[in-house]
Amino acid sequence: MLEKIVIANRGEIALRILRACKELDIKTVAVYSEADKDSLHVLLADESVCIGPAPATESYLNVPAIISAAEITDAVAIHPGYGFLAENADFAERVENSGFTFIGPTAQTIRIMGDKVSAISAMKASGVPCVPGSDGPLSDNDEENLATAKRIGYPIIIKASGGGGGKGMRVVHGEANLLNNISLARTEAATNFGNDTIYMEKFLENPRHIEVQVLGDGKGEAIHLCERDCSMQRRHQKVIEEAPAPGITEEERQKIGEACVNACREIQYRGAGTFEFLYQDRHFYFIEMNTRIQVEHPVTELITGVDLIREQIRIASGLPMSYQQQDITINGHAIECRINAEDPRSFIPSPGTISVFHAPGGPGIRVDTHIYSSYKVPPFYDSMIGKLIAYGSSRESALKRMTNALDEILVEGIKTNIDLHKIIIRDKNFNVGGTNIHYLESHLLSD
Ligand code: ADP
Repeated sequence: MLEKIVIANRGEIALRILRACKELDIKTVAVYSEADKDSLHVLLADESVCIGPAPATESYLNVPAIISAAEITDAVAIHPGYGFLAENADFAERVENSGFTFIGPTAQTIRIMGDKVSAISAMKASGVPCVPGSDGPLSDNDEENLATAKRIGYPIIIKASGGGGGKGMRVVHGEANLLNNISLARTEAATNFGNDTIYMEKFLENPRHIEVQVLGDGKGEAIHLCERDCSMQRRHQKVIEEAPAPGITEEERQKIGEACVNACREIQYRGAGTFEFLYQDRHFYFIEMNTRIQVEHPVTELITGVDLIREQIRIASGLPMSYQQQDITINGHAIECRINAEDPRSFIPSPGTISVFHAPGGPGIRVDTHIYSSYKVPPFYDSMIGKLIAYGSSRESALKRMTNALDEILVEGIKTNIDLHKIIIRDKNFNVGGTNIHYLESHLLSD
């Protein structure tokens, strides 16, 4: 087992990784920016190293500073968490070339999956169902692009191969607007992602977002751990996630799970990963793979009993996975609400000092957060300040527990989206289950 790990992240995920390390008797090194010196993960870690000023580019994205932190503390591995450098292939490579273990897939896997065009072609080759599309980058040839769109059938969506964070996508409803949108998308892709490769796929009008969690040992063994439904989104950002996905049959689950496992075997996937799909009319369509732990991993942990961070660390240590496919069973239902420091109407981030924080509790309630009363939410990073997760033996029970927890939780001094969660959790259609990715914006935020 790895002896000492640098946690190259902040906030709730840094704390989550730290707790997993403590359970495994692994020593921890927290790295932090000047803005995070009073953060819980810094206070609780065995050692801590300041890696720079508040802006992420000078701290959490500062590769030499993070590697130096590992060197001066004699750590043996680096856990990147999510966001920041977690899916940066160059970082993974630098970590390994410096003699440390990167807790995640190989740089080569991250590189392939980070480029959506190459990810889609790898997935197609392993039999994972994909969205009908251009099957490769768009060329400069207008006639060819018009013909491709016609073959796919409008509406189509133009996406950046190097895109992420729900940015840089353009929906086109008819031929008249195709060419100008292609040229705009290309310019945007070059500006935002430093790569002007774009591609085209069928725009699915009413899909749900359903994703499959996997673990691979890097030697060709892999398992799937059920799916999550993350359809409740605003501006392509997930707001609520749950597992299992309502209405998915056992047969569908096995079939898509096996397709993902086959792909993992083929690419000798190492660590935790997620295959993201759009799901419409009972079909799954692959959109991308995330080669890291995800924000919403706790809902999978609660229904499977698998500690995903622990498995990441075991795999990175070269140990066999603790589970085989037949050991994975689903029990009950789990729902997660992302709590953000933001204005409930404008969604503008609302940093500041939390005057009162009271965590909810009771059976089946898990709160993954780094905040505490008097904690100052810095303005420099993502606005998510915690995750409230409810587990129950059934979806109804999980929803009921979440309703109570949302009524109990208190975060005062800053604005949050807790009231929005109260509305969603009580919503009639959400209670039925299976609402699509447009539901939040079109039904609950439309006025
Ligand atoms: P990113 O990496 O930027 O998050 P994704 O490819 O994962 O990009 O897509 C993000 C979101 O955009 C999806 O969750 C979905 O809401 C929407 N989207 C992407 N592709 C399609 C498509 N083909 N049809 C409809 N919506 C799509």
